[in-house]
Amino acid sequence: MSSQGPRSFKSSRAFLVRSADRGETDRLLYFFTESDGLVPMVAKSALRSRKRFGGSLQKYFLLDVAWTETPGRPAFLGSISLLASYWEILADWERVRHADYLLELAASMFPQPGPKPKAFRILHSELSSLASGEIPSAAARKAEASFLAVGGWGPDLGGCLRCGLPPVHLGRKEARAIRFLLSEGRFLCGGCAASGGLSISLGAIRTWKALQSSSPSLLRRLRIPSNILEELQGVIPGYIELHLGKSFRSLGSRKKG
Ligand SMILES: [Zn+2]
Repeated sequence: MSSQGPRSFKSSRAFLVRSADRGETDRLLYFFTESDGLVPMVAKSALRSRKRFGGSLQKYFLLDVAWTETPGRPAFLGSISLLASYWEILADWERVRHADYLLELAASMFPQPGPKPKAFRILHSELSSLASGEIPSAAARKAEASFLAVGGWGPDLGGCLRCGLPPVHLGRKEARAIRFLLSEGRFLCGGCAASGGLSISLGAIRTWKALQSSSPSLLRRLRIPSNILEELQGVIPGYIELHLGKSFRSLGSRKKG
């Protein structure tokens, strides 16, 4: 039963995630907002909207979006203003691909309505990093690890699943042949691991752990060596896909078996 409740007016900082045609003239826009998470909004009459919203209605711009909500009806976009543009992302295809991935990732990992200040801050920080020349795959791994931590998906990298030894106390033997168990979100040290899981270095475990606890400003300063970056690329996206039950097309490079 959709009773016609009172209209509410809302506004928030937001990023445009994607948009699609809706009927003959309208557009359906998905914004990732700081105050309400992912909010689909209808922009009436695309032509009129284009005049009204001008060039602000773009991805990779930090926007201030105002909308109207009526219970039982789609939200309607009211106004948009531009707060910051990260158009440097458009200068490079790898940046575009990764920026789209970050937007989709935020929308997929935090689809529930409600305030998303932490996820929004991470998204904002990594998009602006991409614009200022961060290595695209580093921005992606940083965002992934922080989103996972903020969302409570772990993984728990505090110690070996079996013997409990923390990464800092692993001796040379235990540090060799560490296996990461995707489904458990835990690792087995070299002393405990037999087979199964993915091979992962101690350096990659420690880097991932650092990414989980870092604030966005620390994340920005963290430099990840390229071999570790490559290693994490083989593990973190797979972990996310397993826990979200979804693969991400915008990075495109991962082949489905
Ligand atoms: Zn162990």
